[in-house]
Amino acid sequence: MIRVREVIVVGGGLIGALVAFTLRGAGADVLVLDADRPGAAWRAAAGLLTPDGERLRGTPLHADALEGLRRWPALAARLERSGLPVHLRPGVTRLQAGGGVVCTPGEGSLHPPSVVRAARQGLEVVAAQVQAIGPSGGGVRVRTDAGDWYAGQVVLAAGAWSGAFGVPVGARQGQALLLRGAPGVGAWYGPPAQGFSRYALSRPDGLYVGATSRDTWAVTPDLHAARWLRGAARTLVPGVDGAEVAAHLVGLRPVTPDGMPRVGPHPTVPGVLVAAGHGRHGSLLAPVTAARVQALVEQSVSA
Ligand SMILES: Cc1cc2nc3c(=O)[nH]c(=O)nc-3n(C[C@H](O)[C@H](O)[C@H](O)COP(=O)(O)OP(=O)(O)OC[C@H]3O[C@@H](n4cnc5c(N)ncnc54)[C@H](O)[C@@H]3O)c2cc1C
Repeated sequence: MIRVREVIVVGGGLIGALVAFTLRGAGADVLVLDADRPGAAWRAAAGLLTPDGERLRGTPLHADALEGLRRWPALAARLERSGLPVHLRPGVTRLQAGGGVVCTPGEGSLHPPSVVRAARQGLEVVAAQVQAIGPSGGGVRVRTDAGDWYAGQVVLAAGAWSGAFGVPVGARQGQALLLRGAPGVGAWYGPPAQGFSRYALSRPDGLYVGATSRDTWAVTPDLHAARWLRGAARTLVPGVDGAEVAAHLVGLRPVTPDGMPRVGPHPTVPGVLVAAGHGRHGSLLAPVTAARVQALVEQSVSA
């Protein structure tokens, strides 16, 4: 059987799901193929939208980060038409090394797993691991462990695993804790410790405390990280000691050698667009990437 779609999105994580949701909203016939990989970043991500906390001011990502923040309220409203809330909240409290506190009302947070679930509603998502992508006739052939598909256009959004398809993307592991029975805090961003950002935010699934950062593909939680995260929780949130661990999350941030996401035509395979390498900023930058991919798909259709 030949299975053909206008656009196939490889990977249904934060970037792939929002790209597919945006293309579907613009009327495209879209299929998402997702391998449900252990270590997918969207399952472990905090969901902070903090260009200042992440010290992006003065970097080439700052303009896109501000544009991402500006686009989130409208995108969240469109996602929530699915009936699923994405928990977009304004305001972050910055705790400073000297003990002061600064509020940044323009920054915010959301719940990445809810964003992905809301975006996937109404999309066709097939559980399949993509093994190869290559040109075929005037389009693209996608080989998977569940058979082959063909498409006019393919969007590669396989997170850290995108490197298997000829783009310079690798993994940087992050671990975080979800605590049950902890005090509610909103979104608190503390001063870094041992080079790691420390933050705590109240989410529908518990108090999220993050996050470590290590160059490894390992996707199992470790005790050293658990101890460091417990310490971060104690420093940031008074009264957290009795809270129990509801989940110890591990995710692989998709990173590039120069820290810049790759969004544009694939370097060698015609008909393939890349949307990968968003590192520690995928929640923040996803609305901008989705709009950019939509424009590129529309350009190629009208060419
Ligand atoms: C601990 C932690 C905290 C973070 N906090 C924040 C934050 O506060 N703010 C922020 O902006 N960002 C944050 N991030 C970063 C953010 O999570 C990532 O930038 C974002 O998830 C990247 O999205 P993605 O879709 O490219 O990759 P992912 O979310 O990893 O999704 C990739 C998807 O591709 C699928 N896939 C992989 N290979 C294949 C294949 N061969 N075939 C089919 N499907 C495949 C996977 O199953 C997965 O669902 C955090 C990340 C971590 C780990």
